[in-house]
Amino acid sequence: MNEFDWIARDEKLQQLMRSAQAGRIVHALLLTGGRGTGKRTAANWFARAMLCTGADKPCGACPACKQAAAGLHPDLRVIRPEKNAIRVDAVRSLIDYLALKPYEGDRHIAIIEQADRMNDSAQNALLKSLEEPVDSAMFLLLTESPGALLPTIVSRCRIVRFHELPVRACAEALERGGMEKERALLLAGAARGSVGRAREMAGDEALLALRERVIDALESLGRASAAEAASAAAVEKGRERDALDWMELWARDRMAVENGAEPFQLDQAARLARSKLDGQRLLRAVMRARRELESNVSWDNVLSAMLLSL
Ligand SMILES: [Zn+2]
Repeated sequence: MNEFDWIARDEKLQQLMRSAQAGRIVHALLLTGGRGTGKRTAANWFARAMLCTGADKPCGACPACKQAAAGLHPDLRVIRPEKNAIRVDAVRSLIDYLALKPYEGDRHIAIIEQADRMNDSAQNALLKSLEEPVDSAMFLLLTESPGALLPTIVSRCRIVRFHELPVRACAEALERGGMEKERALLLAGAARGSVGRAREMAGDEALLALRERVIDALESLGRASAAEAASAAAVEKGRERDALDWMELWARDRMAVENGAEPFQLDQAARLARSKLDGQRLLRAVMRARRELESNVSWDNVLSAMLLSL
C-alpha cells in the first residue's frame, strides 16, 4: 500500500504535494487534525520530497530520502515537546540552525510536532522567524489544537486539515496494509476511523481487552448490581482514562444507533442494537466521571457513582 493511500486528501494538500515535488518551498505549513489522521506521515513525506536527490520525488531510494526517513538528514530538524512543553530555547536553537547554510542541498526543513505545546515565549520567537522567512527554510507545524497557537502564527501558515476516514474506508486501508478483515473492522471502529490510531491500538492488546470488559460491564447493568458491574470493569492503574474513553465511545455509538445512524464500532453493531442503555445519559455520566477524576476523586468512587447513576 502506498504510504499516503489512507490519508483523506483534499485538493489543497495535493497541490502542495505537487509543488513540493517541483522543488518549490512553502515557507510554513500548518498541518492540523486529530490524532492518527496522517499529519506526521505527511510531514515526513514533505521533508523527503524537498530533500530528495532522485528524479521522482521522494524516490525513497536515494541517500537523502533514507536519511530523512530515519530523521538523520543534516538539513532536517525535528523538534517535539520535552516534558510536555516546547520551550523558547528549543525554538531559538532551531532558528540559529536555520541561519546556517544548508549542509547538503539548498534548503532546511524544520518540523515542529505538537506545535501547540510551545509556550508563549517560544511562539513569539517562532513568529519573528515566520514574519521574516529565510528563503531556504520550510517550516512544518503539526497540531491537534490549532486554537492554542497565536493567531499571528496561524495567519502566516498555509493550513492543511487532516480528517478521520469513514470506518469502512479506514478498515479497508488497514486491510490493504495486511490486516485480517475482522480485526481491521474492529480496530477501525475502536479508533473512530483514524488509521494511525488504529495501528497504534493493534499493538496494545491490553487496551482492546479493556474495551471488552468495559462493554460487558455497561451491558450487565440492570442484570447485575452496580457493585458487580464495577468489579467487572476493574481497571489497571493508569488505564482509568482509557476506560472512560471506551465508555464515551459506547455512549456515542448508542446515540447513533438510537438515531438510526451507523455506529463507529461496526463489529459491535448487533450488541449495540440490543442494548437498553440510554446513550445520552451514559455520555453525561462519563463527562461527570472525567471531571471527578480530574479533581482527584478515587477511581472506585468515580466508577460506582457513575454506574449507580445509570
Ligand atoms: Zn530520494
